[in-house]
Amino acid sequence: MTFRRRSRAPKVDPGINTQRTDDLFRLTSEGYIIAHDIASQYEYAQKQTCPDCECPFHVIAQINRSFQGLNELVAACPNCGKNATFIFDISNDVYQRWLAERLGDLYVQNYDGPPRKAARR
Ligand SMILES: [Zn+2]
Repeated sequence: MTFRRRSRAPKVDPGINTQRTDDLFRLTSEGYIIAHDIASQYEYAQKQTCPDCECPFHVIAQINRSFQGLNELVAACPNCGKNATFIFDISNDVYQRWLAERLGDLYVQNYDGPPRKAARR
């Protein structure tokens, strides 16, 4: 039987990484949006508005691409139905450290290659 490692700060939302840095939501050279935890991805997508009617998008699907170090959220405008896709980088060091802390012994890095970084501007 396995147990998840308990957070040392039980009042913190388990979807939020308390070690977020200024790189959050910056873009990698490929154009992926840097995420530091699960919650940040929903925060980002729900802050975007429909280009046609300016309604805030609602997340309607999550596509697990962790084997590529990515996670994809599909959002839709609740007014006109227009869709948008947001692709987040989860290969970065901040995200992977957070994930490893959450999963403990269950943590496996399941993508190849080095962690992506925010592109220099
Ligand atoms: Zn719309």
